[in-house]
Amino acid sequence: MVQLRDDCFNNDGKLLQANEAIEILLNCVHPIINTEVKELRHSLGRIIAEDIISKMNVPPHDNSAVDGFAVFYDDLSQENDTKLIVGGRATAGHPLPRIQKCGEAIRIFTGAQMPKGKVESPDTVLMQEDCKIETINNIENVIIPPGIQKGANTRYRGEDISEGSKVLNLGTKLRPQEVGLAASLGLTSLKVFRKLRVAIISTGDELFEPGVTLPTGGIYDSNRYSLLALIDSLGCEVTDLGILPDSKSAIRETLNSAALNHDAIITSAGVSVGDEDHLRSAVLDLGHLHFWKLAIKPGRPVAFGQIGRTAFIGLPGNPVAMMITFLLIARPALLKLSGAIDVLPRLYKVQSGFDYKKKLFRREYVRVSLTIDNTGELVANKFPRDGAGILSSLVESEGIIELSEETTQLKKGEMVKFLPFRGVS
Ligand code: AMP
Ligand code: MG
Repeated sequence: MVQLRDDCFNNDGKLLQANEAIEILLNCVHPIINTEVKELRHSLGRIIAEDIISKMNVPPHDNSAVDGFAVFYDDLSQENDTKLIVGGRATAGHPLPRIQKCGEAIRIFTGAQMPKGKVESPDTVLMQEDCKIETINNIENVIIPPGIQKGANTRYRGEDISEGSKVLNLGTKLRPQEVGLAASLGLTSLKVFRKLRVAIISTGDELFEPGVTLPTGGIYDSNRYSLLALIDSLGCEVTDLGILPDSKSAIRETLNSAALNHDAIITSAGVSVGDEDHLRSAVLDLGHLHFWKLAIKPGRPVAFGQIGRTAFIGLPGNPVAMMITFLLIARPALLKLSGAIDVLPRLYKVQSGFDYKKKLFRREYVRVSLTIDNTGELVANKFPRDGAGILSSLVESEGIIELSEETTQLKKGEMVKFLPFRGVS
């Protein structure tokens, strides 16, 4: 199960700065240790649980990068055309079955192994487009203009990956290119961390399942569906525990049993200080809270704690706040628990296309879309409305910009940090 420390920061009720919260979070959660072996074909999105050291060179032999003629550079004239007899063929998968002699050219194709020589080996390939062919009495000659560089158009053994080098680090999430790279080493399977088991719970008496007729005062539960999709996209195994009423005993009971067979529990809503917000006290009955209020907007009430060895993350109920705090808090925690090393979202500098005022000492995230101005610079344009409940704003935005605690005024044209939704879900 998840390794969580009991000696983390103890919540004293004050607003915690976002950086401090992330530090606490990352100090508290430790990767799962269970691993499994996965066939390469089914390893996409999994996190590799060992360093991969290459046992071979890739490519395994020197080969031609083009269709043309393999020659010894020393046979070529620097000033005039060189005429060489074409003495054989080497195609991909079918190397020249003999040694290439000095003074001859070998017809060669892309990916074909470079022929061997007796002492030195041919070292240069001419592109067929640069050469002329002359056939006299059934004997083929190639006429090569001067000016080619020694070694041109050849690919060297080991130039991609050299034998003995580390090619993948433990904790790397396998993307298509990592899967292909493992195949290029001849590997058929990889040791990966087992999938993280995550339980999702919505809380709130007003919430109803999509599909039913809404009673007065009811709304459809959207957060759980966003969360299920977010957890799916992280490659975790998700258990949908549905909607719980605003009842401490129901919440406590479900948390207690979910903690027995999950690595993490993620809830939405019921985590602030209203009379009907029971999550905090239910978690405190069963385990510990390491923090629960952050100095960020949107999303102030975000709880992080543990029940036994299961991580607990209580996200706010407002759909936009839920999504943003998921990306900033829950996602890094789940990635670290899953064994990943690259857990924090990457932000990119873009230009602000608007003026904005904010409160000191609070980190703020503003929904934006990007345009490109006439100098080619990316410019962030603010979504016109700010409400933490406007879920359509996330559909219509490309990401969020982060405004630091110290900022009180953002001026149009200033550079700001941008977090694209595309890179994190
Ligand atoms: P709470 O955090 O419980 O005070 O909820 C804050 C706001 O988020 C309220 O307007 C709730 O109705 C709304 N909300 C809570 N949970 C969900 C949910 N699962 N889907 C959509 N809205 C929700
Ligand atoms: Mg509520």
